[in-house]
Parts: sequence; structure tokens; C-alpha cells
Amino acid sequence: MDRRKFCKTTLAASVAATFPVLTACGDKAKVATGADTSVKAVSLDGAEIELEAAAIKELGDAMTGPVMLSGHPDYDGARSIWNGMHDKRPALIARCLSNEDVANAVTFARERQLLTAVRGGGHSWPGKSVCDDGLMIDLSQMHNVGIDTDAKRAFSGGGALLGHLDDASLAHGLVTTAGVVSHTGVGGYTTGGGFGRLNRKYGLTIDNLLAAEIVTADGQIRTVSEDNEPDLFWAIKGGGGNFGVVTQFDFQLHDFDRNVLSGMIVWPIEQARDVLEFYAEWEGSLSRELYTGPAMVTHPELGHVIAMEVVYNGDPAEGEKEIAPLRALGKPLVDGVMVQDYKVMQTQEDAAVAHGIRSYAKNAMIGEFSQALVDDMVDAYIADPRAGIFTHTCGGAVSDYGETDTAFPHRNAQTMIVFFTGWMDPAEDEEGIAMCRQWHAALEGHSGGYYDNIEQEGGTRVARNFGPNYDRLRQIKSHYDPGNLFRMNSNIEPA
Ligand SMILES: Cc1cc2nc3c(=O)[nH]c(=O)nc-3n(C[C@H](O)[C@H](O)[C@H](O)COP(=O)(O)OP(=O)(O)OC[C@H]3O[C@@H](n4cnc5c(N)ncnc54)[C@H](O)[C@@H]3O)c2cc1C
Repeated sequence: MDRRKFCKTTLAASVAATFPVLTACGDKAKVATGADTSVKAVSLDGAEIELEAAAIKELGDAMTGPVMLSGHPDYDGARSIWNGMHDKRPALIARCLSNEDVANAVTFARERQLLTAVRGGGHSWPGKSVCDDGLMIDLSQMHNVGIDTDAKRAFSGGGALLGHLDDASLAHGLVTTAGVVSHTGVGGYTTGGGFGRLNRKYGLTIDNLLAAEIVTADGQIRTVSEDNEPDLFWAIKGGGGNFGVVTQFDFQLHDFDRNVLSGMIVWPIEQARDVLEFYAEWEGSLSRELYTGPAMVTHPELGHVIAMEVVYNGDPAEGEKEIAPLRALGKPLVDGVMVQDYKVMQTQEDAAVAHGIRSYAKNAMIGEFSQALVDDMVDAYIADPRAGIFTHTCGGAVSDYGETDTAFPHRNAQTMIVFFTGWMDPAEDEEGIAMCRQWHAALEGHSGGYYDNIEQEGGTRVARNFGPNYDRLRQIKSHYDPGNLFRMNSNIEPA
């Protein structure tokens, strides 16, 4: 395989955001060709079922958004998710424009025991937001983000992308934690936890969640918070899409100067051991303002490199002092750290991981960045230096919460390691997956669990990974989704 075919992280200063083009579609010619006959579909337990034409028409009439069957001009765009490996064809796509549309779609699915996938931003690595022959509840048009500047709150639609959330907040000098690729969906990202470049200061995205609107399997629209149905609120803070469809997230925002000291420092891969050993010593003393972490990647011009990303959320002069030892380390090929717009960092990877890429990812939550880990990371990457091993520094405000405070349990991890492979040619699927697994296997011994949002093989490990929260999650699941309608996720089976 051509090594250059694997996806590289871009170290370029700025790449335009590449939001998928989604057309608003609220017209009344909502049900496409084929709706005058019944449609074959599949039930929750895999049996073939028929969806009567009259029932589909009734759903279409009840909804403000369209119900799309194969042949509808927007059907293929809606079913195409980020990871090009998942080319699936739902029997129906309900493109929702409101809470009521979601409630209608959920009720339609539950009454027929229809296999159901929920699409937020469509970034699910294992392709959980699309299914063959079932119903896709498509939230992509519910992407508005409203800002209350007095209360410093953002109200984000369940189908918004992180770029929508960042743009709306930053326009008012406000921000909350959002992940590193702006075309990721707020929905799956938040319900899984939400790591981003500001999490050491503000915590995970779920730590900034004040309330949410959610449609549960019974079709009810609920508003949940610490005061209102607190169990359900707790469960959606890390329990994924198991409990319903979140149609609106209400986030706490923070005052923020978007001109941040940030960028990449890049060294040749030969200096990987020195950089990792430095990082292992340094990470325990980092201030909450500083986000950083090493990555070993192949760069189109520079070849195999080790890079450290830096974002300092505070006075740049203080940041300069804190990163001085990093800048003095070895002989960098590039030192791109400067005061620049936070949005540059938040979009710099967008083009490198554009929609349609075929990709596999695994990860490991690491308690201690030990010398043994450094050795294994260097050995694993040098043995097969394609695609990328990334790290994300946790700690700080993430660890202010205990493991049972939210459904997301991995509060004591200091670093998350992400193993990522990406390619374009379907013929390379097997090799790309095998390589990712091989890296992960080499480092798994250092892991205390995984971050569900960046893991393709949770499977039977789901219970263990939720640790002390699993039993409570099962009880809540039994209450709100006893029939396990929402099963296209890291599934928590009802107790
Ligand atoms: C390129 C890339 C970069 C990433 N970077 C980060 C990062 O920096 N930090 C981080 O923490 N994670 C990151 N992730 C992981 C990301 O958080 C997950 O892939 C997440 O599931 C994406 O959410 P989505 O809405 O786009 O996904 P979808 O594919 O739409 O959905 C994923 C899952 O969430 C469920 N879901 C989606 N929306 C809702 C909703 N509104 N209500 C209930 N359930 C819903 C779906 O049913 C499905 O089970 C990244 C992923 C990719 C592919």
C-alpha cells in the first residue's frame, strides 16, 4: 500500500471549514416515488416487515419535514455519513424539523418495532447513525444555535455541528468545550462526553450541559436537568444515544478571548522518544489553561514526524512562559505557535478528515504516561508508521468530577490516545483496519478503558467500560426505553 494514501494530519495554519452541504427541505411534496406501495423494512429483531403505504403517508402528513424514500432527491445525501465505509440504505428517512417531527418519527418506529438509527452530525466511526432497511431519524436540519448573552448560554439543535456551536458562541466572545473537527455533530459528541481543546479549563462538554430537550421512546418530549428527571439527565451525560433523541442542548458558556497562543511544533520522528519522555514528565504540571499532546503522523511534505499541538486559553505572555521548555526541546522542523484565532485551530483538521473518507479508530484512556508507554508508543509507530497516533491531554477540570457524577466514568485518565487510520480505496479496508487494531493491541496494556465516542469495537466491553455506572444506566434504560428502540449505539440493554 502507498503510505501516502493514508490520511495525514494537516499542519497548515488554516483550512476552510468543510461543513457538509445540506439543503433545507420542508416542501410538501414530502414522500418520494414508491410511497404508493408498501415498503419492505426490518424490525428491531431483524425480521422482515412491511410498512403500509398509508402509514408512511400518514407520517409524512404529520411531519413538517419530509419523509424520504429511495428516489427522493435528498435521500442519498441524508444517508451518507462521514465514514465512507458505511454505505447503508434505510427504508425511510424522516428528516425532522422540530421536536414534534422527532416525536412522530419515534412513535411510528416504536409502534412497528422498526429498526431505528438517529443521525446527528453523522460522524459515528462505526456507522451507528445509518441502517439498512430501517428508519433513519435525520436531525441534520435542526442545527440552529441560539445564544443568550446575558445568561451566557447556548441552545443548540440536536443536529448542529460543532462549527455551528463555536461560530455562534465566538461571535459573542463566548465559548464552551467543543471537539477538534468542526464538522462533528453536537448530538453524538455531547451524549458521549465531549473532549476538546478547552476541557482542562471548562471540563468535558457534558460538564457544561445545563439542560436538554429529549424525545424518549414513548414519544414524549421532555425537558431534563438537575431538577427535572435528574436520572435521565445524568444518563445522557456520557451514556450516548441510548435514552432518546436529544433535540436541544442547553450549554453554559464562558467569556473567551478568541485570540489564543496556539499552533503546532513539529520534530522529525527520530526525536519522538525525546519529545514523549519530555511530555511524560511535563504533563503532570500543566496549568488548566494549556491544552497539548503529542501526535505521531505522516506529513505530506515533512514525512514521518512527531508534533505537539498547543492551545493556551489565557494571557499569551503567561502561555509563552509555560511552553518555553517545549520550544527549547530538540531541533524542531516547524514552530508554528503564535497568537491566532481559536477558530483556526478548531478547523485546521477539517479538510484532512473530510466526509467520505474510509476510516477506523480505536483509543485508550491512560492513567499515567509512563516510560513503558513511551517505549511502546515509539516501537508501535516505528514498526508501521502510517496514519496517526494522537493524544489528547485530559486532567484539569475533567478530573474535578468523580466517576459516578456523570455517566461518563473515566475521570482520572490523564491522557487519551487515539489510533486513527484513514484511506479512500475500498480495497484497502482490511489493511487499514488491521493496522489500527495492531497499534491498539500494542498499547492496550496501558489502558484503563476507552472513550466510547472514538472506539469501534466496544461490543461486549460496554458493561466493563461504564464501570460503576453500568447498573444505574441499565435501570434508567429500562424505565425510558424498555423495548430498546434506541439500540444503534454502544448499547446498554434494559435491566
Ligand atoms: C473526524 C472526527 C473527529 C472527532 N473529534 C472528536 C473530538 O475532538 N472530541 C470528541 O470527544 N470526540 C470526537 N470525535 C468522536 C465524536 O464525538 C463521535 O463520533 C460522535 O458520535 C459524533 O457525533 P455525531 O452527532 O456527529 O454522530 P452520529 O453519527 O450522527 O451519531 C453517533 C451516535 O450518536 C447518536 N446521536 C447523534 N445525535 C444524537 C442526538 N441528538 N440525540 C441522541 N443521540 C444522538 C446516534 O444515534 C449514534 O448512536 C470525532 C469523530 C470524528 C469522526
